[in-house]
Amino acid sequence: MHATSDARDAWTPASERDASRSLRPGSGNVSGRIHLSSPDIGAEEEEAVLSALRSGWIAPLGPHVDKFESDLAALTERRHAVALSSGTAALHLGLLTLDVGEGDSVITSTLTFAATANAIVYTRARPVFVDADSTGNMNPALLRLAVEDQGNHGRRVAAILPVDLFGKMADHESIRNIANEFAIPVLTDAAESLGASREGQSAGSTGSAAAVSFNGNKIITTSGGGALLTDDGEIAQRARYLATQARQPTRHYEHVDIGYNYRLSNLLAALGSSQLRRLPAMIERRRTHRLMYREIFHEVPGVTVFGGPDGSDGNGPTRDNFWLTSIIVDAQVAGWSADDLITHLERADIEARPIWKPMHLQPIFASSDCYVDGTSESFFECGLSLPSGSSLGPADTQRIRAAIMGFLEGGREK
Ligand SMILES: *Cc1c(COP(=O)(O)O)cnc(C)c1O
Repeated sequence: MHATSDARDAWTPASERDASRSLRPGSGNVSGRIHLSSPDIGAEEEEAVLSALRSGWIAPLGPHVDKFESDLAALTERRHAVALSSGTAALHLGLLTLDVGEGDSVITSTLTFAATANAIVYTRARPVFVDADSTGNMNPALLRLAVEDQGNHGRRVAAILPVDLFGKMADHESIRNIANEFAIPVLTDAAESLGASREGQSAGSTGSAAAVSFNGNKIITTSGGGALLTDDGEIAQRARYLATQARQPTRHYEHVDIGYNYRLSNLLAALGSSQLRRLPAMIERRRTHRLMYREIFHEVPGVTVFGGPDGSDGNGPTRDNFWLTSIIVDAQVAGWSADDLITHLERADIEARPIWKPMHLQPIFASSDCYVDGTSESFFECGLSLPSGSSLGPADTQRIRAAIMGFLEGGREK
């Protein structure tokens, strides 16, 4: 299993942690398992949830939801944010509000978590997969090919759904140009990129709407949650309506649409706002992990840090949120494989995982149309993601460094 979005894998039960350390972000676990991306929860979050609980607003509406929505809209430079129960729900409602439906094609990145493709299937549309460029994000040239080819086969492409992989924004400018040329709306999957930017544009600000996630292993968490971001008041209103069981404004319960129970609880929104306040510090901590891995692998033959260096370590207008740091290993050159390193780290109780298995290689999507050139397949074969969470403290990073150095210095077992 390699789903980095499995919250259970990312979560360390409080009972397994030293209580004096569990509330101090950055101190992490000195011993015990080191996870890829654990929740980073401190005293501020505890207080926020407790105060929301005591306020009496327990339902999935209330002042904390309103506050969290306006905080999110401000951060992502959007007019509207609709807080929802998951990133998957945000993708689902995003597609529905763009009128995606039965038989339509939705073109998305093959290198992503299954939730992106699943949301397309929920609408009875057909996912169409496009390969990655060297950064891991959607290759615009292949997107153009896909749009044209789907059109030639009489398919209606109802939406383009690019994904910002591992905290790096896709080439939204090229994607927007193609989308505009063919008059196709864009829904961005920004589940992994909150807080990132590209050429001055904030993650979540691209497309007719964008979905973000606050799952347990994401850059910030509400334990589970998500949001749909948009500048379009009608999209926001429609999403709110569908997320609250599609109830008509009548005294009795009147329904003319199929609705969903997708709103975020007020308690969790309180958690979200306090996490959001710490987002810059969390990104900075993940950035230091990226720098550590760059330093460790700097002169190791056959190893490249995934995602490319352009702007990703700087403070300029293009910036990762450093959600996950991953490496690509050319086993011929390195003399060892990504899998060897994962196995070695596993023995030291340190979690590392392969990069997403591309959707077009998943049994459930085997019959879907795809426009691929082998790029994401080779990332899957040669890549691994390393522990990157903002809750990792100095003792954790020392353990990780020692384990990797031990491996590189020949301590590896075949
Ligand atoms: C996490 C994730 C999702 C799903 O978000 P949930 O909040 O877990 O439903 C969707 N797409 C991508 C790319 C993700 O990483």
